[in-house]
Amino acid sequence: MFKFKNYRPVTGRADFMFQNVTLLPLASLTGEITHISIIVYDVTDIAINKLQLKSANEQLEELSQTDGLTQLHNRRYWQICMEKEFERHSRYGDTSTLVMIDIDHFKQVNDKYGHPAGDKVIQHIAYLLKQSLRETDCAGRYGGEEFAVVLSKTNAEEALHFTERLRKRIEESEIAFENRLIKVTVSLGINDLSEQLDNSSNWLSGADKALYIAKQQGRNKSIVFK
Ligand code: GH3
Ligand code: MG
Ligand code: MG
Repeated sequence: MFKFKNYRPVTGRADFMFQNVTLLPLASLTGEITHISIIVYDVTDIAINKLQLKSANEQLEELSQTDGLTQLHNRRYWQICMEKEFERHSRYGDTSTLVMIDIDHFKQVNDKYGHPAGDKVIQHIAYLLKQSLRETDCAGRYGGEEFAVVLSKTNAEEALHFTERLRKRIEESEIAFENRLIKVTVSLGINDLSEQLDNSSNWLSGADKALYIAKQQGRNKSIVFK
């Protein structure tokens, strides 16, 4: 209310004082209000602590939702996104498609180039995946070298365009690691929301079954669950 300079501008971490103010009307002997008493309390320290706590909590929340290696959502948070999307479908009938992605023969990458190289491959796939997403899609690292995506307002046919574009980009790209170039492919399972689905686990397991078929049919493929 009163723009007082903070009396500890260096250690106080605020340019101006945060204040609580009490206003008291002061009556004269005739009962008429002639003066006002203004008491200014310096609450800068409390205010700054509150702001810092808020920012620390926001950072913690972000960390608790993020996968450290890829900066995608972690599995737990992705699962929440997926369940929310399923509820939206149940209530409003919105269409959405779930995609599971697994890197092909990834054990061989680790065996041949080492675990750090494998990590770099995972990061690279995550980067390409992020680049192909829209604002409303939700992608997460589901497991070691597995990713899961919810494509909102997208049917299976549209999702197949998305997965094929991503699959080809991955197939064509090379990952540089210590003077060597690594190439990998991925398999993808697709399952759109349909009226037959009565819970979100079935939505997920359908995509997983389609992924399994993609692996069986030779890998480097997108398969729609039927
Ligand atoms: P498939 O084509 O059938 O998927 O064969 P695959 O070799 O990829 O088999 P699978 O999916 O079972 O292999 C997963 C491997 O991924 C096993 C594990 O050693 C490796 N892995 C899991 N998490 C990580 C990680 O964070 N970093 C690295 N470098 N490797 C990981
Ligand atoms: Mg796997
Ligand atoms: Mg794999």
